[in-house]
This record gives sequence, C-alpha cells and structure tokens, in this order.
Amino acid sequence: MTDTELTAVDYIAEQLALEREAKELMPFDPNECTYVKGPLRQMVYACLTCGTAQSPVGVCYSCLIRCHSTHELVELFSKRDFVCDCGTTRILNSKGCTVRGESELPGESTATVRPRSGSIDMARRNSFRSLLLPKDDIPSSSNRYNQNYHGKFCSCEKLYNPLEETGTMIQCFLGVECGEDWYHLNCVVGINEPAKDTATSTGNILDRLPGPGQDAQTDGSGDNHGDDDDDNDEVIIPYFPSLGAFDQFICWKCVQLYHKVFDVLRTVDGVVHSRLPHFEELKLVDEWKEKYNHWLNHDDKQTDNDEPKIKRIKKQFIPYSVFLNSSFRSSLIKYKLTLDASNQVYRFLESNSYLYESDPVYEPPKDEDTNSSTTGSILDLGTDVLLSLPKEQAVEGLQAYNMIKSKLRDFFKPFAEQGKVVTEEEIRDFFDKVKK
Ligand SMILES: [Zn+2]
Ligand SMILES: [Zn+2]
Ligand SMILES: [Zn+2]
Ligand SMILES: [Zn+2]
Ligand SMILES: [Zn+2]
Repeated sequence: MTDTELTAVDYIAEQLALEREAKELMPFDPNECTYVKGPLRQMVYACLTCGTAQSPVGVCYSCLIRCHSTHELVELFSKRDFVCDCGTTRILNSKGCTVRGESELPGESTATVRPRSGSIDMARRNSFRSLLLPKDDIPSSSNRYNQNYHGKFCSCEKLYNPLEETGTMIQCFLGVECGEDWYHLNCVVGINEPAKDTATSTGNILDRLPGPGQDAQTDGSGDNHGDDDDDNDEVIIPYFPSLGAFDQFICWKCVQLYHKVFDVLRTVDGVVHSRLPHFEELKLVDEWKEKYNHWLNHDDKQTDNDEPKIKRIKKQFIPYSVFLNSSFRSSLIKYKLTLDASNQVYRFLESNSYLYESDPVYEPPKDEDTNSSTTGSILDLGTDVLLSLPKEQAVEGLQAYNMIKSKLRDFFKPFAEQGKVVTEEEIRDFFDKVKK
C-alpha cells in the first residue's frame, strides 16, 4: 500500500483498529453533555480554539469528542463544581452544543412553546428551538478559570505538553486559591528547573488521552500528570515524601490562604503526613536542603511549644505545602465533632466538606458499543479520516461526520465488496461533494 492508494478493505481495517484504540482510551458514551447536571466534579478539557484570553473555555467529556474534536485541546483532569462551557455565550460565534442540541429540550424553556396537544415531532421541535430559544445557553458563573484553561500549569506557568513532559506532577486537592492546579515536584519546594524548551502547541489530544479516572484517580494516591515510566531525568528532591506515602497534596498557596487553620490541622492526629516549605527561586538542591533544615528547626518550634503567643518572636511566615495521610478523611471527621460551631477550623471544614466527604469524579455512562465492530461505528470517535485530511478540507467537527456516515458507507460499499483500490483523490472528491 502506498501513500496515495489503499483498498477499501485495508482502509476499513485501519479505521477499525484506530477506533478500537480510541475506545480503549475513551470508554465512555459521549452522548450526554454534563451542562444539564449543574456544577459537578468531572473531567475537564480546555478548548484553546474556542476560548480567548478573556474568556477561556472548558468542556465536558462528551463535548470534547462530539463538539471540539478538531480543536486544540488540553486535558485538565478533574475539576470540582465545573459546568460545561460548550454551547454557551462564553464561546464567540458558537454553533451551539451538538450533544445538548440532540437531547430533550429543557422543560422550563419549552413550557411556553410546547403545543397543548402534547407530542411534537423532531423537525417541529427543532424549528421551535431555533425560533424561540436563545441560540446559546447561559454559562456557569461559578467555574473557576485558572491558568490551566489557557494550557498553563504549575507555579512555573509552563505550557503543558504531554509529549515532552517527563516529570511527575501532582494536583492540589484543596484548590481554593490555585483552582486545583498541577505542580512539578521541584516547583513545590521552589527549586528552579533548568528551563526546558517547551513546545508552544498542545495539539489535538484525542489520540493520547487516558480515560477519565485512569490517570486522575479520585481517591487514589499518586495523581500523576506525567509519564508513568522510564527516562526519568527528574531532580530528586530531598525530604520530598514518596508518592505512595501520602494520599493528597495541598499546595502552599491554598494552605497560605488558611494558614491559621492549617497550623491547627497539622497537629491533629492522623491528618497531615508531612509538610514542605516553599521558597522562591532556589537554584540548587543544596540550597534547598539548607533552607529546609533551618525551617524545620525554627518553624516547628515556633508553633509547637506552649509559650504564650505574645512571647513568640514575630517572623516572616514561610508558606508550606501539606501532604495528607491516607486516614485524613476519618481523622478530620472525628476532629470536627470535637469543635464548636464558631471555631474557625470548624467553619473551614464545614464550607469545604469535600475534603472529608466522598467526592467522586463523575463518570459518563460506559459506551455499550465498545465491542461492536460494525463499520457503521467507524466514524463515531475522534480518530477518523477527517483528522488526517488537511484542516481546510475537514468538515467541522465529528458531528458533521456522523451526518455523512451513511453516505460514506455507501461510497465505500462497492470498493469493499470488490476489494478495489480507493485513491486519496477519490476520498477527497467524496468529501468535497459532501461538503457542498
Ligand atoms: Zn458538554
Ligand atoms: Zn472548541
Ligand atoms: Zn457540546
Ligand atoms: Zn513547575
Ligand atoms: Zn492549591
């Protein structure tokens, strides 16, 4: 098989292999936009194509696949209280959300337009929709757009490139200040990494996505943003707890926002595994060691002894990150029971109850079709011929592709039956015709 010709049988086999691979990576049924569920802890994908500097955009799993598959996307892993931005007024010149467009009209908005007689057919429904409903939905006012939505991560504000990122990154579990950002281990303590040349493009991530909950586990330890194996040229950070030793990480920025609360919590049995101070602009590991030891000797003494507050020497607060024990949830619950409702730690725990309550990342329903191998489903997922065609020829989005699915099947049928060769030219002609 050359670059320019292949048999339809080869072509379909190739597509099926790609499709299987895509389904393994993305096993969920992309037929439900989470917008209708309201704020939800879920997998979020930043769409750099739809977003702007003023109005960044994040979309849900289904919209990633169905509405934004040809766009430039960055996987953000889980975010709490997120509402999908697809098809909302946050997106300039939005074409609406394909997924929501297909589903039931929201009851409230239709109450005034639904005919009294009851059922209406799809075509009429859609015409009602286009006539009477605003084109775009109202965006969430509670989404927390941090730098991740611009493709940047960590205190070093690097553009995340999964192909080049080899270091481990950990996500902040509290997130009130940082928006559940991800951090390089060296950046957690403030050691500058030798500047690496990061690519400016994050590309289309559909072909290298882990499934929701795979890399970004809800409750598992070791949320891992980087590669899992080999060529680990990371700087070893002395005193950094091993990734399996703690359950969750809370960054120094979020701790600092509530440092009085954390100064208490770190003394509560079973909550904090360890802490690490954060310094600015450390160049060398030795410098870190020295500062760490100094901090250890002084910081601990400062808050652990029983001297009256007045006598304590006032000194600059050095921000620290917190690593939580595996038993931190039950320990927090137990501790909260001992507190008065006016206590500031109580109030903190009350308003951030996800810290100790079950807070799973939402999983879309599993795709039932995973094992089917009909050619009809070839085009359902992101790895398709459209993506391999030049951009300007690509029909926008996979939805359009779904619509031409039957036509494409008809087109390939005679070739497949006769084992005939399809040239790239013929495929392009086909798409040109379909586009018109
Ligand atoms: Zn969505
Ligand atoms: Zn987009
Ligand atoms: Zn959508
Ligand atoms: Zn960093
Ligand atoms: Zn944080």
